[in-house]
Amino acid sequence: MNIVIPAERLAGEHRVAATPDTVKKLVGAGHAVAVEQGAGLAAALPDAAFAAAGATIAERRQEMLAAADIVLAVRMPEAADVAALKPGAVLVGMLAPYQNPLLPQLAAQRVSAFALELLPRTTRAQSMDVLSSQNNIAGYKAVLLAGQFYPRFMPMLMTAAGTVKAAKVLVLGVGVAGLQVIATAKRLGAVVEAYDVRPATREQVESLGAKFVEMPMTDEEKAASGGVYAREMSAEFLARQNELLAKRAAAADIVISTALIPGKPAPRLLSADAVAAMKPGSVIVDLAAEAGGNCELTRPGEAWLSDNGVHLVGLANLPAMLAADASSLYARNLHTFLGLLLGEGGLTLDLDDELVAATLVTHQGEQRFGAVARPAEAANHD
Ligand code: NAD
Repeated sequence: MNIVIPAERLAGEHRVAATPDTVKKLVGAGHAVAVEQGAGLAAALPDAAFAAAGATIAERRQEMLAAADIVLAVRMPEAADVAALKPGAVLVGMLAPYQNPLLPQLAAQRVSAFALELLPRTTRAQSMDVLSSQNNIAGYKAVLLAGQFYPRFMPMLMTAAGTVKAAKVLVLGVGVAGLQVIATAKRLGAVVEAYDVRPATREQVESLGAKFVEMPMTDEEKAASGGVYAREMSAEFLARQNELLAKRAAAADIVISTALIPGKPAPRLLSADAVAAMKPGSVIVDLAAEAGGNCELTRPGEAWLSDNGVHLVGLANLPAMLAADASSLYARNLHTFLGLLLGEGGLTLDLDDELVAATLVTHQGEQRFGAVARPAEAANHD
């Protein structure tokens, strides 16, 4: 197979979808690998390292893509890139399936495209789970960013000049990112409390030495709050939740929010009033900024200081700020996923495999995910 790795084009996207380590394995298995010139540089992986692992370094992107059987990407490539692909080519990456305007083009081009965000959260999928590997990094980086804006120490310090109090950190949303936020903030000496709509997270929060923020819920609400993923809650529930979280935020020094619902806008957990009641010098890092933000005042892609002295950090794509480790974990996820597609006889797409079926968004001219429902179907889904 001819496997290619284009350089990422999105501003600030410093990750790359393969490393010399994964390239070596692919070449060892008999594949030809081409890496676009400079693709790994921002992730501390120069062309020479890829060449030493057996890759060819491609200077012409379009030619490289036109010859590809399999394209490994971090983000969805641009329309011109898709246009270069041959029918039957496979594309694997984080293709943003819920908001990808190029899915019809991928289908028309007869590309078999895999959006790895759609992997089910099962034990078998764990080693390919790009959301986990990347959100773990985002959680770690969010704490470091908070420390950068916070005008005080995080740990408690006793010095000859007096005692400094430990920072109080409030974590909203305890998925993979939130758990790493808790662990990292604890390592830096902060006092941590955390909240999630899924009551099942209490045990995980407490096992990391943090306090769980309790929100009284009816049995109905408990059932609605979901299993592995949270679901959208009623407006009345969200209003009660906002009231509780506003009080906890006013007592905190740092709030790091990570609450997300797949394919939906991020739940609003902190209103402008809640920010107005926070202490000057407090920091909010909103990891949900790109999905609309957990805080009403978050500006996606920006960090700004409110009138009452609260730093609002909505910087995007935190995993790309740790591009070397993010790429190495991501590349391993992709390599493991490719193992599902590459058998002895070359490429085989087994649609009976639940991991293949769940992630395959376009195949043989058909858009399998997110296609606009026909009127009869739409009526059934109301
Ligand atoms: P995510 O990024 O989708 O969401 C982050 C968190 O926000 C979730 O815990 C969610 O419950 C929470 N949230 C949503 N709405 C909220 C609200 N209104 N208020 C407060 N919190 C809210 O989460 P994730 O990191 O993808 O993890 C989701 C779940 O999947 C977790 O239980 C995680 O442990 C599990 N998981 C399982 C596997 C596996 O078994 N292979 C792999 C990864 C994650």
